[in-house]
Amino acid sequence: MIEIDGSAGEGGGQILRSTLGLSMATCQPFLITGIRANRKKPGLMRQHLTAVRAAAEIGSAVVEGAEIGSGKLVFRPGEIRPGSYHFSIGTAGSCTLVFQCILPALLVADGPSNLVLEGGTHNPKAPPFDFLEKTFLPLLHQMGAKVMATLDRPGFYPAGGGRLQITIEPAQALRPIELLSLANIGYSARAVCAQLPSHIGRRELRVVQDELHISDEKIEQVQLDTYGPGNVLTIFVHSDQLTETFTGFGRRNVSAEKVAAETIKQVRNYIQAGSPAGPYLADQLLIPIALAGSGCMRTSRPSSHTLTNIAVIKQFFDIDFQVSQKSDLSWEIRV
Ligand code: AMP
Repeated sequence: MIEIDGSAGEGGGQILRSTLGLSMATCQPFLITGIRANRKKPGLMRQHLTAVRAAAEIGSAVVEGAEIGSGKLVFRPGEIRPGSYHFSIGTAGSCTLVFQCILPALLVADGPSNLVLEGGTHNPKAPPFDFLEKTFLPLLHQMGAKVMATLDRPGFYPAGGGRLQITIEPAQALRPIELLSLANIGYSARAVCAQLPSHIGRRELRVVQDELHISDEKIEQVQLDTYGPGNVLTIFVHSDQLTETFTGFGRRNVSAEKVAAETIKQVRNYIQAGSPAGPYLADQLLIPIALAGSGCMRTSRPSSHTLTNIAVIKQFFDIDFQVSQKSDLSWEIRV
């Protein structure tokens, strides 16, 4: 049985999700201790418990320790069962993170799946729906898996109540991907306000347009009178090999201009690093690359999520990740 120290490195939910996903995909049982030990409220929270239950159902697994607050879990996976599933978190916990957990197994399954996921769809510290749709899933498509997501309704913290649907058609074998250059850059942006005044989105977009010189037709303002309160600003960076997605969230006592400035800062850091895979994409592409057996990407300085994910993946696969610095701000990760 593989033993995982959940407090190692990043020490958050990602170690658990990656471990679950890799365990199902490779059919190897594991014991994890110290789950989310580095977080303010350690142990399994609703979102993680939903991920464990989803993984157990899809992976025909026998599980011990699946309770709120639990710091220890034993997971013995069986056959992967692709099909139709509906998982609801019941809070504003991120449904894209539940998806992150069950995706590896469904990518190597022997049939297609349809998922309905309910909870938060636009959470800080989780992949926003737009990142999945425009950045992550098109890259899986390049690797040969057809994964499509639609947003039925957004869910913001703290209200939740969002819903997304995902269809997954696995590839026979995932193709390696090479993400090496960031060329021919263009921008677009969208601001969404749900049950919040429309001037917030207008002001965010004005700053983004002025700073990044984006024309009117590349800008979209969405005003919703339900599903809120919530405000999300998304800047898309289009280039030859991919579209990267950067997100800012409106918060109480933070001006629309500040939210715009924070989001633009992420974009400027990305452009300055000159590498196609942004910091979030880098940690999330590691498992698909491992499943493909080879691949490489240029990214900015590897985040602790990335380094921790590499360590977890190496416990399930006998593969070597070479991480090398290519210039002041650019690194290459190669399998
Ligand atoms: P954890 O902090 O362990 O729960 O993991 C968070 C996960 O969410 C990581 O895979 C991050 O790459 C991902 N993530 C966080 N913020 C973003 C963002 N703004 N865009 C895309 N992915 C994100």
